Amino acid sequence: MAVQQNKVSKSRRNNRRAHDALVAGNPNECTNCGELKRPHHVCPSCGHYADREVIASADDIELDEDAA
Ligand SMILES: [Zn+2]
Repeated sequence: MAVQQNKVSKSRRNNRRAHDALVAGNPNECTNCGELKRPHHVCPSCGHYADREVIASADDIELDEDAA
């Protein structure tokens, strides 16, 4: 097991961690509904991608109560 030769001071440790913060994403506006979405991803709120619907929204699916 590797053992460090010198104690890393709080200052040196914290300076190293100064660059560890997570940065926020870069969201785009959905062209269909205007909601913020991740670039190159299907819009989670309306299911559109590049001006066409790729995931049918829940109220578009006709559920037959008598079936099943
Ligand atoms: Zn959308």
